[in-house]
Amino acid sequence: MNTISIEDKLAVNKFDIDKDVHIRIDEDICQTCNHHACIYVCPANCYKLSDGRITFSYEGCLECGSCNVACDKGAIDWTLPRPGFGICYQYG
Ligand code: SF4
Ligand code: SF4
Repeated sequence: MNTISIEDKLAVNKFDIDKDVHIRIDEDICQTCNHHACIYVCPANCYKLSDGRITFSYEGCLECGSCNVACDKGAIDWTLPRPGFGICYQYG
């Protein structure tokens, strides 16, 4: 049986990136965070910790909502992309 890696599965998706950012973080709140749960739950590695600071890029978002559930500090302003934008699964 062939096994397909997560990277290969993600590679068959395509994105129509919305220029309107659909997820924003409040970096001032993130500076007070001691667990950075968003980094660990995001399957697309949209959140990164660099020099003690959280950075976020929305372009690769898989729209799963995990970060919004995991953040207990209200730092994430989360919506879906506009209709017609965002990820298209299995269209690659
Ligand atoms: S879990 Fe929330 S507050 Fe903590 S770093 Fe992530 S987005 Fe910021
Ligand atoms: S919705 Fe999912 S894929 Fe998108 S940034 Fe949050 S955890 Fe990552």
